[in-house]
Amino acid sequence: MCALLLARAGWSVAVIEKASFPRRKVCGEFISASALSLIAQARAADAVLARAGPEIREVGFYAGNRIVTAPLPAYAGVMQYGRALGREHLDAALLDEATRAGAAVWQPWAVESTGCDGDMLVCRARNADTGERVELNAAFVIRAHGSVDTGRLRVPGVITGKRASDLLAFKTHFTGGALPPAQMPLLAFPGGYSGFVHTDGGRVSVSCCIRRDALAAVRRAAPGTSAGEAVWNRVLETCRGAREALRSAVQEEAWLAAGPLRPGMRAAPSDGTLAVGNAMGEAEPSVAEGITIGIQSASLLSGHLLRANRSQTAAGRAAIACDYDAAYRRHFSQRIRWSRVVGRLTMNAHAAGVAAAVMTHVPRLLTLGAAWSGKKGVAAA
Ligand SMILES: Cc1cc2nc3c(=O)[nH]c(=O)nc-3n(C[C@H](O)[C@H](O)[C@H](O)COP(=O)(O)OP(=O)(O)OC[C@H]3O[C@@H](n4cnc5c(N)ncnc54)[C@H](O)[C@@H]3O)c2cc1C
Repeated sequence: MCALLLARAGWSVAVIEKASFPRRKVCGEFISASALSLIAQARAADAVLARAGPEIREVGFYAGNRIVTAPLPAYAGVMQYGRALGREHLDAALLDEATRAGAAVWQPWAVESTGCDGDMLVCRARNADTGERVELNAAFVIRAHGSVDTGRLRVPGVITGKRASDLLAFKTHFTGGALPPAQMPLLAFPGGYSGFVHTDGGRVSVSCCIRRDALAAVRRAAPGTSAGEAVWNRVLETCRGAREALRSAVQEEAWLAAGPLRPGMRAAPSDGTLAVGNAMGEAEPSVAEGITIGIQSASLLSGHLLRANRSQTAAGRAAIACDYDAAYRRHFSQRIRWSRVVGRLTMNAHAAGVAAAVMTHVPRLLTLGAAWSGKKGVAAA
């Protein structure tokens, strides 16, 4: 998104991406209306909307035997409701648009380190296929490398050691089943949560997160099954809504796994680079807002850069980083904190049961929870 916005404004941009596209990714695939509106403003919506699943107008919360649903708040922007699209399509579509806007794409190249060279920044990258190495100099370097699997690049907040509370994530697609097309439920199960949504090609995206300690227990109880299958069996055993929505559905591919994740705010980079998306702050997947925060933070940062001079001294860059950091925290820290509350509540079987019981009587709370997580959020440009 940064590459697209900056290239459209006439900046000279290089995107360095270590994976070859299209590639699958562990993600629920829901893109909220505020992110779709920013994509539309960047004149990149056609490719995204052409394939995306139906409009999502209803949220759900499934816990134990309870199934609660409520309307999703409409967003007051170009797009009113979010839709889902596989990351193999979304990421490739945005990269294509950035290329058309003039960005040079280095792919599959992995950034191994960044540093300063006088007033310029330097990015050292290696071709993932041939091992060839290159150094690129730039006035600005934007980290958009996510939070897991960054290769040899040392990143702020890199996960070391193991914690019982680390999250491991799994994802697959189903076809068929009885999930209402406009509904996106969050499902609670002991030690984890899952999300369902209709996505492109008539598929239902199913993703799950589970604490490391809960995963170990689930796997001990189901020897001989893969981690993804063991987690999925746990979801089906403990959650009526999951059984009813996908009882007759067909699983389309093997479970894809990722992690460990430690959602939360990250320290801003201290080496003169700037960061967006999960590299800057990671929402709990429970609220399905990570793509949106990625796109909004990219839009926010691009706005700061476009108001500044393209050629910067180290001091000028530091001033931009300081302003952006403050704006980022204003826009996103509360949403990221709220996502953590939702995640913890959902993973605790007792708390999830109480919440579902209360929401059965006051479904508006579910609508409010979705609004707080950002489903009605401000456009950040
Ligand atoms: C189970 C699960 C379900 C989720 N569901 C949703 C959802 O429904 N909706 C939603 O909005 N969010 C969801 N999220 C969150 C969302 O997936 C992330 O927040 C989002 O992908 C973050 O985007 P990003 O661009 O910061 O990082 P990423 O999407 O991780 O992208 C980082 C990119 O950088 C590349 N890269 C990494 N290191 C290097 C390097 N050294 N050199 C070059 N390239 C590199 C990677 O190959 C990758 O393509 C979910 C997450 C999980 C785990």
